[in-house]
Amino acid sequence: MSTEWQHQLREFVNTIDKLKQYVNLTLEEENFLGTTETIWGTTPYFAALMDPDDPTCPIRRQVIPSIKEQQNRYGMSNYLVWKENRATAEQRPDCIARQYYDRIAFTVTQSCANYCRHCFRKELVIDGNLDLDFDVNEGLDWIADHPEVRDVLVTGGDPFLLSDEKLEYLIRKLRELAHIEMIRFGTRLPIVLPHRITPGLKKIFSPYHHVPIWVNTQCNHPREITDMTAKAIFELLSCGVNVGNQAVLLKGINDDVDTFRALHQKLLTVRIRPYYVFYCEPAPGIDHFRTPLEKGAELIRDALRGHTTGLAQPMYVLATNIGKIPLMPDYYIIKMTEREYTLKNHKGQTTKITKIP
Ligand SMILES: *Cc1c(COP(=O)(O)O)cnc(C)c1O
Ligand code: SF4
Repeated sequence: MSTEWQHQLREFVNTIDKLKQYVNLTLEEENFLGTTETIWGTTPYFAALMDPDDPTCPIRRQVIPSIKEQQNRYGMSNYLVWKENRATAEQRPDCIARQYYDRIAFTVTQSCANYCRHCFRKELVIDGNLDLDFDVNEGLDWIADHPEVRDVLVTGGDPFLLSDEKLEYLIRKLRELAHIEMIRFGTRLPIVLPHRITPGLKKIFSPYHHVPIWVNTQCNHPREITDMTAKAIFELLSCGVNVGNQAVLLKGINDDVDTFRALHQKLLTVRIRPYYVFYCEPAPGIDHFRTPLEKGAELIRDALRGHTTGLAQPMYVLATNIGKIPLMPDYYIIKMTEREYTLKNHKGQTTKITKIP
């Protein structure tokens, strides 16, 4: 039985001819597409959100490869091996990445429904130059042997590209382990292929279970949010799945105050709770998407804190080989005496509170 989401994948937009049905390519774009061997592509749904005439369109830049990807001044070679601690003493299957004691990242596929040009895992999902074996049963066995792991983050690629049967199996097997207290999925599909949230998928999520499922999606610009996104998120929430967002700070896409605020406000209008904003990582060939490190904290200070609801506030972090490093703007204590603190708000006004020893 064919469903709309599978149809979208069959019609994957990954040739120049198909792309031309959605955008008027610039000469530079077309020349590069004609010579590059990089994996690229998106769904017809996401392609239709691109501005046909503006090569700087925030969605278009995440979809269409740029010749700038061949420049690499600041990226680290073998980035992912370093980042995911693959070369350390603890023996783990390829599918298990570990930076923390109580939680791990479990990679279950290398495929995506949008090959994001800024992806920090591009060595794996786009360049395909890592020889890793993602065996779900091997990962499940490893997790079963590690009772200290209470939180499993299922990632990829895009884990929601797995069939309903495989997802049901994965969730059932994880829930059979007494030490697993929560299951998380990192998936871009609610944004690039909302059709994936089918009645069949809802059926897998719907029955009450004491081990909750959390989804974090990736939305980087308010224009990625449509009525279909809103519907898909509502469906997920309606079967007990919480939905958060992990944006990536991208130069020229969401690194200005207005866009950054609009993104976080619009996420809430479709019931997505902002979770993280990631600094764009030093993977090779994505220099052109990267800002100075301080940029995210400045944006939280100038666009979000006090300027809009606390529900819209993500944590700004740099993901590293030793875990995520919070890079939030300073706390607003501007003075402390023996008796009181002086505090500043987003407008620069001050107030005081008594100090408790
Ligand atoms: C990001 C990440 C996690 C989850 O981190 P949270 O801060 O709990 O969201 C777990 N393991 C690895 C390897 C990660 O990269
Ligand atoms: S969906 Fe995620 S893993 Fe896939 S290319 Fe985009 S950022 Fe990378």
